[in-house]
Amino acid sequence: MDDERRRNAMGGAGESGADGNSGSAGGDVYRIPSVESGGWMGLTKKKPVVAEVTPHADEQQDPEGSAGKLNWLRAGVLGANDGIVSVAGTIIGVAGADNNPRSLLIAGVAALAAGAFSMAGGEYVSVSAQRDTEKALLSKERWELKNLPEDELNELSQIYETKGMTAQTAKKAAYEAMQHDALRAHAIDELGINPDELTNPWQAAFSSFVSFLSGGIIPLLFSQIPVPFAIRICLIVFSVALALLITGAVSAQIGGAARRRAVARNVLMGLGTMLFAWLVGMLFGIRG
Ligand SMILES: [Zn+2]
Repeated sequence: MDDERRRNAMGGAGESGADGNSGSAGGDVYRIPSVESGGWMGLTKKKPVVAEVTPHADEQQDPEGSAGKLNWLRAGVLGANDGIVSVAGTIIGVAGADNNPRSLLIAGVAALAAGAFSMAGGEYVSVSAQRDTEKALLSKERWELKNLPEDELNELSQIYETKGMTAQTAKKAAYEAMQHDALRAHAIDELGINPDELTNPWQAAFSSFVSFLSGGIIPLLFSQIPVPFAIRICLIVFSVALALLITGAVSAQIGGAARRRAVARNVLMGLGTMLFAWLVGMLFGIRG
């Protein structure tokens, strides 16, 4: 022990890094808080981190604010897009077979209701499954922090090492993060889960429902304008193209994608869907 210390002192700063993290970090002893004291289990809420982040204006670096909101907005726009295309496709498909306006109304309402509920249900199921997985991971992590605190400290410091920190810095960083809120540190840096922001399946289902409805109502309303049948169809197609132009532009704007292409793709897909539905409807209309 004495020998080693002397060697380190003589070797200087350059060499000591080579033989690594085995005890040569003189003075830096990281004492694991006792389980009884409640530390390191994420149970004692420390004051929130208030590190000041000053991102560049064009970067979206705010992980808990605008990025999350943008994801919701994006999901909403995509849901509306789904509503527009699937309700319009159904109405136009029926119109290919039957030129009675009442049929368009029934088809549109049915498509709107079924679509909104199925989107909401699908969202509920998938977000619930994701949430269950996240909760299971978090409770496993909680158990490990309580029972294997030393392993967990090493684990987190290794994760920080893979991000480019030296062994010493990584250990210090891991220690400090765990002192602050151990569960949160492991959740975010090991599992990639923010424990404060688990998605609520009901909220996801509701917003899916509303966004599908808000899109799908457009072709339904235009299908009920009292004008001759051919003009009515033209109005639906035109309104759908316009609506898809807007949703395409907004989602391209959010995603930072090339706007003109994304919009063109979105509008063409909608028009293609209506054309295809029309052809299928006509085929059945002729047969019936
Ligand atoms: Zn861990």
